[in-house]
Amino acid sequence: MELYTESLTKYKRLKTREVRIGDLLLGNFHPIRVQTMTTTDTMDTLATVEQSIRCIEAGSELIRITAPSKNEAENLLHIKNELRKRGYMTPLVADIHFTPNAAEIAARIVEKVRVNPGNYVDKKKFELIEYSDADYAEEIDRIRERFTPLVSICKEYGTAMRIGTNHGSLSDRIMSRYGDTPAGMVESAMEFLRIARDENYHQVVLSMKASNPQVMVQSYRLLVKTMWDEFGECYPLHLGVTEAGDGEDGRIKSAVGIGTLLEDGLGDTIRVSLTEDPELEIPVCRDLVKRYGSQDGSNESVPPVKKISYSPFEYKRRETFAIDIIGGKHVPVVIADLSKLEKITPESLHAVGYNYDAATDKWNISDTAADYIFTGHQLLDFALPATLKLVVYPDAWEQATDKSRCFPIFQDSGYVQANEKSERLNFVMVDCFNHESNGSSFTYLEEIANKPEVVICLSSTNKNAMQSIRRMLLELQNRDFKNPVILITDSNWKTADEHLIHYATETGALFLDGFGDGICLGMTQKSYDPPKTDTSNGLLNARGRNYGNNQTIEQFINSTAFVILQATRTRISKTEYISCPSCGRTLFDLQETTAKIRAVTHHLKGVKIAIMGCIVNGPGEMADADFGYVGSGPGKITLYRGKEVIKRNVNNDVAVDELINLIKENDAWVEP
Ligand code: SF4
Repeated sequence: MELYTESLTKYKRLKTREVRIGDLLLGNFHPIRVQTMTTTDTMDTLATVEQSIRCIEAGSELIRITAPSKNEAENLLHIKNELRKRGYMTPLVADIHFTPNAAEIAARIVEKVRVNPGNYVDKKKFELIEYSDADYAEEIDRIRERFTPLVSICKEYGTAMRIGTNHGSLSDRIMSRYGDTPAGMVESAMEFLRIARDENYHQVVLSMKASNPQVMVQSYRLLVKTMWDEFGECYPLHLGVTEAGDGEDGRIKSAVGIGTLLEDGLGDTIRVSLTEDPELEIPVCRDLVKRYGSQDGSNESVPPVKKISYSPFEYKRRETFAIDIIGGKHVPVVIADLSKLEKITPESLHAVGYNYDAATDKWNISDTAADYIFTGHQLLDFALPATLKLVVYPDAWEQATDKSRCFPIFQDSGYVQANEKSERLNFVMVDCFNHESNGSSFTYLEEIANKPEVVICLSSTNKNAMQSIRRMLLELQNRDFKNPVILITDSNWKTADEHLIHYATETGALFLDGFGDGICLGMTQKSYDPPKTDTSNGLLNARGRNYGNNQTIEQFINSTAFVILQATRTRISKTEYISCPSCGRTLFDLQETTAKIRAVTHHLKGVKIAIMGCIVNGPGEMADADFGYVGSGPGKITLYRGKEVIKRNVNNDVAVDELINLIKENDAWVEP
């Protein structure tokens, strides 16, 4: 395996060892398993059993339960017995941080234990220490001594294990040598995996979670490569993006990270971490997984890539020149497709972020306002807001009286053949699938190569659309084409969640690798089931919270495009919330608090706020956040600026106000 996947152009699951978790088989081409984690207090047996049952009935194939101390670990027996008594045989997983003795108890009770290599043996002091090779080897011996008893118990009881690295809780030793990098995350897991292998224990699953999908994707890829290079084989992967948040944001962020890896055949089980009830995570998992049901072997072929011109282990944006506000150093643009609207009026622009105020004769522009609108054959009979431009088919463009902010879009070789073209900006649509089927015919592409007035718009009708577009991007890079590229993705799925996942997976995978200078999403009108809010069904109520009520298709697509760019960290247009999904360790109501904080801070564009039920994953998880709101004891919150504690043990009832004060003191506040 040259990189991290057997093929960059063909969907092919990564072959891994097989792991047995109770009666469930994982890896080695078994179906991708979906799972979640309870949020109840593990000492509350009945509540945990009932929540587990809701998750199992929603389709969860594994249930993870936190065991922070020996008491909770012991109580797993009561939970397991009650579930089995009620006829639920789903395997249970104990989630362990810091407490080897709890792990050793749990491993005798449940089918799988998860350990965090960042805190299983090491106690974090946030010290930067210089380790000589001898010191380092001594540390590894210490880990071996503490970890081997758990491995022996797992072998004896037939218990599986997840070595679950978390970007936010790497040990001081790893941080000192590698920093909080993908290489550090991989080494953190490999230290434990080598010990397990030395003990001839192979019932191991691995994860590399981070709240930043870029770091998460690079770490999993590097882990696969490292395992392959060192052992000549791989262990199954558990995929997840930590603290993804809730609603649309949480779903998209998860799909960007998890979907990107699934597209390349990586991943044997997935967990989508949402700050919502755990059973609501399962439909999202299923939507992600069902995309790959019949992919293996039934591929429409994409020719292999001859030369890989980028590194999948680090982010580097593809080099392009700028045209108008597209490419170069500009953030990716959003092109909103309004071509399905029969008559476009000033009111239509509300859906894409522009509100006309007749009283002042002014446009109010939101932070998620599209940069261009595509209207097909339709020219507009009103003046556009100053920051918005029009893209139309060539016949309409020729009729336009004012071409200063109106540009044509050509299909394939249409541009080369056209008599009339814009001197400033032309869009050329390319279906990558056509290029694959007629061999590598680049004739007309050679004619538009590096023309300073041509932006290329890539889409693919191939079933493996992402791989097909990626191949074309590599081809452009290898041929030194520097034209900016817009990624066009159409969705034929039905529900809002399915569309979100499709868009996030197909385009997210490319943006994470530095490809794409713009995004344009489309769908068939009839295939949209808008999210509903007014219902007694908990699932829809919860989803409606920040999905936006009764959105039109255009609103839905526009907001999805901006959230994808935010999740891939390529364009920041709103406040980012890094909120944990909560679990039995949670010290306050995560959902209610997240909603409260969101209500008062949602206008702080670009500010990242971490909301964590406890500090188990460490302030490292907030390295990426500007401010942190973290449960530190019953009714108590500790506030952070970056990784630094600013106020300890603030009372819950004033903590949101104190958070706002902290944001103000740091000049990050603006009035709504
Ligand atoms: S950060 Fe949240 S999900 Fe993670 S252990 Fe703490 S409370 Fe549980």
